[in-house]
Order: sequence, then C-alpha cells, then structure tokens
Amino acid sequence: MKFSEYKYERPNLEEITAKFQEAIEVLKTSDDFSKQVEVINEINKVRNYYATMSTLCHIRITTNTTDEFYEKEQEFFDENSPIYANLEFELAKALLNSKVKDKLEEKYGKQWFRLMEASQKVFSKEIIEDLQEENKLISEYRKLTASAKIEFDGKINNLSQMGPYLVNPDREVRKNAEAKIMEFFAENEAKFDEIYDKLVKVRTQMARKLGYKDYVEFGYLRLGRTDYDSKMVANYRKQVLEDLVPVVIKIMEDKAKRLGIDELRSYDLNLDFKSGDPKPIGDRPFLVSQAQKMYASLSKETKEFFDFMVEHELLELDAKQGKAGGGYCTYIPDYKSPFIFANFNGTSGDVDVLTHEAGHAFQVFSSRNYEIPDYYFPTLEACEIHSMSMEFFAYPYLELFFGEDAYRYRYKHLAGTISFIPYGVLVDHFQTEVYENPDMTPDERKATWRKLEKMYQPYKVYDNAFLEKGTYWFRQSHIFSNAFYYIDYTLAQVCAHQYFIKNNVDAMSAWESYYNLCKQGGSKSFLELIKVAGLDNPFVDGTIKKISKQLLDYLNSFDQTKLI
Ligand code: ZN
Repeated sequence: MKFSEYKYERPNLEEITAKFQEAIEVLKTSDDFSKQVEVINEINKVRNYYATMSTLCHIRITTNTTDEFYEKEQEFFDENSPIYANLEFELAKALLNSKVKDKLEEKYGKQWFRLMEASQKVFSKEIIEDLQEENKLISEYRKLTASAKIEFDGKINNLSQMGPYLVNPDREVRKNAEAKIMEFFAENEAKFDEIYDKLVKVRTQMARKLGYKDYVEFGYLRLGRTDYDSKMVANYRKQVLEDLVPVVIKIMEDKAKRLGIDELRSYDLNLDFKSGDPKPIGDRPFLVSQAQKMYASLSKETKEFFDFMVEHELLELDAKQGKAGGGYCTYIPDYKSPFIFANFNGTSGDVDVLTHEAGHAFQVFSSRNYEIPDYYFPTLEACEIHSMSMEFFAYPYLELFFGEDAYRYRYKHLAGTISFIPYGVLVDHFQTEVYENPDMTPDERKATWRKLEKMYQPYKVYDNAFLEKGTYWFRQSHIFSNAFYYIDYTLAQVCAHQYFIKNNVDAMSAWESYYNLCKQGGSKSFLELIKVAGLDNPFVDGTIKKISKQLLDYLNSFDQTKLI
C-alpha cells in the first residue's frame, strides 16, 4: 500500500471516550494481572488508531494547506485534543494506581511508569486557564515574527527569506541584511518584551500553584526528564565553557584567515567559504536515488528501511505551492510507517533531510514493534542522537551527493556541529537565570543575555547597537514556545560526536552500537540509553574535555587551503 492509499476517517470521540472509561474501570477495580494486560492491549489499539488519524490529518494539511476537507478535520483535532489529552491523563492515573502495578512494571518496563508519573506531576485542573494563556502568548509570538516584512534587495522578505543574505559572500550585503532584520526587532521591542514577560510569569504561576519553588523543576518534568536535573545540566554547561569554547574560538580564527577578514563581526560568523556553500549535484529524484544507494551499502537494516520509505511513498520532499514550510519526521502507527516532510530548495539542507530526518525515521522504524506506543520514540534529547549521528554515518558516502565538494561539506558540517554547542548551552543558561529570577525586568533579562553571550561566544562582536543590548534571542522561538527545550540538541550532539569518533576508529562496532540504540526506542530514559549504547555521559566531568580534544585533532587534519 502507498501513502496515498492510507485511509483517513474522523475518529468518533464518543466511542473512544467509552473505551477509555471501560479500560479505566477495569484497571481501577480488577486485581487480575492477565485481565489488565488484555485491557492495556485493547486500549493501546485505540490510542494507535487516534494517533494514526491525527497524524494522517496533520501530514495532509501541511502538504496542502488549502485543502478544505483536511482544514475542517484539523479544526476537529485542535478543538478536541485537550479532551483526548484528559483521557490519556486519566488512563495514566489508573495505571499508576493499579493493584498489580509491580507486575505491569516488570512486563512493560519502568520507563513507561516514570513518564506517566512525570505527566501527572505537571497537570491539574487548577492550571488549565494558565495553560490556555500560555498557548495564546505563544501564538502571539508566532504571529508577530511571521508579520515581518523586510524590504531588502528590491523586494519584501519574511525572516526566513532573509536567511540567504546572511551567508552572502559580499560582506556589505551581510552587514546590511543583519541591520535590516534588527530594525524589525527594534520596532517591536516592547511587544517581544511584553509577550516574554507574561510567559515567564504565567509559567512561574503554574509551577507555584502545583507546589514548586519556580518553573525550573516543573519545566524539566514537562519534558519527561526523569533522570537528570538542572544541577547536572549546570555542570555540563561549565564543561562546555572550559573545554569546548576554546575549540570554537579556533574554528573562528581559521574562518577569519580563510575569509581574509582581520576582525570577524557577528554577520561574518555564518559564512564558511569565500566561494559560498557547497551545493548538491542533482535534483530531488537524483538525491533520493543516491540516498537509496547509500542506505543499501551502509547496512542491511538501513536498506530495508529506506526501500520501505521509497516503495510506500513516505518521502514528501518537493517544495510546492500551498505546502507548509519547514520539515519534520513523524510516525503513522497503524501502518507502521515513518513519514518525512521537507521543502527541498537546492541547498546542502536537502542532503541534511536525507540524513537527519532519515535518522529519526530509521529509529522509529527500528522500534515499531513495541507494544507500548509511548516507546516508539524516546524523550527529545535522545531522539536527536539518532538523527544527528546518522549525519555522521553518512560521511563516507557524501561524494554521492556533492561530488568533489564533499570535502568542503564535511568541514562545514563538522565545524557547524561543534560551534552550535556553546550557543545551545547559552540558550539554556539564559532560561535558567530567567526562571530562577522571574521578577527580572525585560532590561535585566537583556543584560543577562549579553553577559552570557560574551562568556559562551566571545568571538561574537556586534556593530549593531540593538544587538549589543542583548536581544539576539528574540528570534529563538524555543525560548518562547518551549521553555527549556534546547539543551537537548547539544546533549544529543555530544553523543553524535562520539559516534563520529567511534565510526572513524571501528565502523562495524560503531554501527552495531547505534543500531542497538535505535532498537531501544523510548523504552529507557536518556541516561539508561547512553549506558546501553556505551557512550560517555555528558554530565560527568571529563567527558567534554575528551571529546573536544578528539574533535580538534580531526578539524586540524583538514587542509585549510582546500577550503576556499
Ligand atoms: Zn531532529
């Protein structure tokens, strides 16, 4: 069956509610283990069915945002998803109070129960209004950033259309583009300040209503982080500052030399080569067929996976009229199908989709047979290990996509993944300070950002007075929409770097470890997964130092004269 034949129907919420209530009743009253297992199996079918329909609807409306049928269906899900979420909440409560909980934990694993416990701790009817207020503020932020109309290069651009100008080989163009973008943020400064101030206050209020000192611990629980806390993250940030920031300083010095610029400015940091970025050597059908070759020779598991994606038409990659922007990987449980959505535009980003998003898809394909839907994907920081590592497992095959330019791409990619980490850590440090001190004024928050920016990105020098004030983060949507979700990318990157290093030493055993990790899905917590994979724990002193040294050696092995 091909994706176009996957059948959508609107779920009947009354029937679903009745089935949940029946299941909850049995879980509450029965002490018969096998009966409870039977009920769990049945209700998981219902959960998979609901997820299948809502996912099919989401894929189809994002593929064609003007489709009237799916527009109505999307409204149905927007309206009813809180009701459905409440059913899941009540089900979790009944499972946690089951008379045979110990036996269930033994059968299904502790992680399922830990996730359910975390979800119970961050929800209560008391905070429903706060949650609605939070959603409203996030939508306001989205609308505000989407409203940007920036006059540049003889046309009107939105923020993402300004992106290419920031990596234009002409320095004047980059400088002016940055200044124009910041005009938009400066004009709307009061609005950004107000939205963020309200978000910090409402999140703090929710946390306090449920008995927490501030939003920090509450935010961690909301992300399902069951085995590390903000103290451990602080220690990780300290290691990055001491051991990895010097490597990035070196990357920036090499960049300055290559570009022939004496003193780099903020608008120079995104450009890697005088001649511009490496580009793939073919269009979408060519790149997909090259990816098919790559996955066929990488391993028998990846061959099976990618052939499945192609045969069932689960790759929606062309940019087209009416299609939503961005890219994602999702999973359709009833068809055991991962799905990849992207907008190819002829840049190296197209190849990133075929490695990064395919890494996510390969992981969920490898854990598609779990009985518990909550185990299809792990928590977010672990999710990115699979995708970011796949980018590195693709290194030996990059000539398929870039020809001779693969050399420059490898350097750009590796240097980029390293340079990203201090920035990601900065975003986390900033949010920690903000939520630990929720009464800071907007100006104090900006001063905090600039102070931290100078610590983690000492090479970032601004010509622009508004940026100098500490406002770069206005554009970082996660800070507004998903508090504390960001350190995840850096933790996963540190793990992916370990796969990169292992793959250079012993490709066979690196792959075995990676595939084993993919098969664990979300059945374990982040630190348990790392342990199973035999990776060094980023929170433990010495880990970042060891990795930084190995990465620096590898960077130094590139011939800078070939990186023009
Ligand atoms: Zn990802």
